Amino acid sequence: MENKKTRVRFAPSPTGHLHIGGARTALFNYLFARKYDGTFILRIEDTDELRSTKESVESIFDSMRWLGLVWDEGAMPDMSEKGEFGPYVQSRREAVGIYREYAEKLIKEGFAYRCYCTPEELDESRKKALAEKRLPKYEGLCRHLAPGQAEKYEKEGRKPVIRFKMPDDGFTGWNDLIHKELKFDNKLLYDFVMLKAGGYPTYNFACVIDDHLMQISHVIRGDDHISNTPLQINLYKALGWEMPEFAHLSMILGPDGTRLSKRHGATSVQEYKKLGYLPDTVKNYLALLGWSNPESQQIFAEGELEEKFNLDGCQKSPATFDNVKLQWMNGEYIRKISREKLYEFALPYLQEAGLDLSAAKADVKDLVYMEFEKYKLLSDIPGRLEMFFKEEPAYDPKAMEDVLKKPETDKILSGIAAAYRELPDFSEKSIEEATRVFAKANGYKNGQVFHPVRVAVSGRAQGPTLFKMIEYLSRETAVKRINKTLDMIRTANGEKSK
Ligand code: GLU
Repeated sequence: MENKKTRVRFAPSPTGHLHIGGARTALFNYLFARKYDGTFILRIEDTDELRSTKESVESIFDSMRWLGLVWDEGAMPDMSEKGEFGPYVQSRREAVGIYREYAEKLIKEGFAYRCYCTPEELDESRKKALAEKRLPKYEGLCRHLAPGQAEKYEKEGRKPVIRFKMPDDGFTGWNDLIHKELKFDNKLLYDFVMLKAGGYPTYNFACVIDDHLMQISHVIRGDDHISNTPLQINLYKALGWEMPEFAHLSMILGPDGTRLSKRHGATSVQEYKKLGYLPDTVKNYLALLGWSNPESQQIFAEGELEEKFNLDGCQKSPATFDNVKLQWMNGEYIRKISREKLYEFALPYLQEAGLDLSAAKADVKDLVYMEFEKYKLLSDIPGRLEMFFKEEPAYDPKAMEDVLKKPETDKILSGIAAAYRELPDFSEKSIEEATRVFAKANGYKNGQVFHPVRVAVSGRAQGPTLFKMIEYLSRETAVKRINKTLDMIRTANGEKSK
C-alpha cells in the first residue's frame, strides 16, 4: 500500500439531503486527499432503487460545493463523469454489467451461490432461530441444493438472489487506522446477498467491486460501517484482491449523548446554510468532530486544515455536536470576512425576508457591515436591519411605553428634531455633536437624550451605534420618525387628560 497513490472516495447513497455525518465523512476524505496530494472521488451509490432520487443527488452536490469540497473525479453536478474509472454512478455500472460479471465469477469459483428462498421462508427461519435463541442469520439452506432443485425452483418462477459464501470458521480482522486492531468471529458473519433478485447489487458487494476497480487506497467512512467491513474483507479475499486501508470515523452524538438525529434539531448541511451559518464555519466545525491537532487549535485559516489534517488525530470515541460552539465559531468567522463578502452572504437572507433593498437611504453594504461584530448567524441580519428598509420601524411596545411615559420626552424629541433639521451636514459626527450639545444646553444627562432618540428612530431600546444608525436612516426618515413619536406622545397624553 505504501507506494500506492492516495485515492479516496466519498460514496453517498442519494436518499436525502447531505447530513452532518455524511458531510464530515466527505470532508475528511477531501482533507486526506489534499494533504497527501491524492485524488478525491465522488461515487453515487444509488443501488437502493426505491429510495434513491435525482433530487437527493443534486442536493448532495449543492451541499458539497457550498462547503468547498471540490472533488477531482467522479459524477459531476451536470451528471457527466470525470475520470478514467467510470461510470461513477452505481446504477450506470449495473447497466453495463460490471457487478454481474464478478458475481458469476464468484459462483464459478465456489465463493457464491444462487439462493431461491422466498421472503416467507426466510422470515420463518428467522423466527425459528430467535425462538431457539440462535443468531437469526441466513443458515445457508441453498448452499447445497439437491441436483435438479435449482431448475425446479426456476420453473416455479422463483427468482434467485446471489449470496456470498462466508467462511464458517476463523476470524476476520484488520488494523483500522483509527480503531486499531478489530476482529470478528466468522461465525457471526452471514452469507450476505450480493445481487438482488432483479440483478441489482447490494451495498456491500458494489462497494468492494467499485473500491477495487477505482483503485481506492483508503476507505474512510463512518463507524456505523464497521460491521460491514468483515463482510467486505472476505470478498476481497475471495476475489484475490489487495484490500484498501480502512479508517472508521467516530460516531457523532447529540448533546444528550444519543446518536445525532432529527430530534436534536437541524441535521443537514442545507439546514445549517438556511439557519445562517457560513460555509467556512461549518467546514471548520465539522473538522473538529472527531479530529483534533496537538495544539487543540479551534479556528483554522484558509488552507490550514488541508495541511494539518491527518488520521492520527482522529479519535475513536464519539464526538458531541455542540450548537453553542458552532454559533460562537460562526461569529468568529463573520468577524473575519470582508465587507463585500459579508454583503454577498447576507443578500439571500435579506431577499428571503422580503425587504425592499432599494428603499434604504444608505448603501446596503454599509448597513450590513455596521453591526458585523454582533452577528452570530447571517439570518439575524434582516431582523436587525429591517428599520432601514421600511417606512416605519417595528415598535417594541415595552421600549415605547418606557419612553412615552417620561414627562421630559416631548421636550427632548422636539428639541432634537429641530436640531437635526438644521444640521448643515447630516453625518454621524455632526449628529452626535448636535445631540450632545442639546443635552448639555438643557441640563440632561446624555443617556436621558440618547435613549428616547434611539427608540423614536428605530422603535427599539437596543441596536446599532446610535449616530451612525441615524445617519444611515437619513435626516428625512429620522425627523419623520421623531415627529411620529411626538404625535404618539401627544395622543397618549390627550387620552390621559380626557
Ligand atoms: N453508500 C454508503 C453510505 O452512504 C457508503 C459507505 C461507504 O463509504 O462504504 O453510507
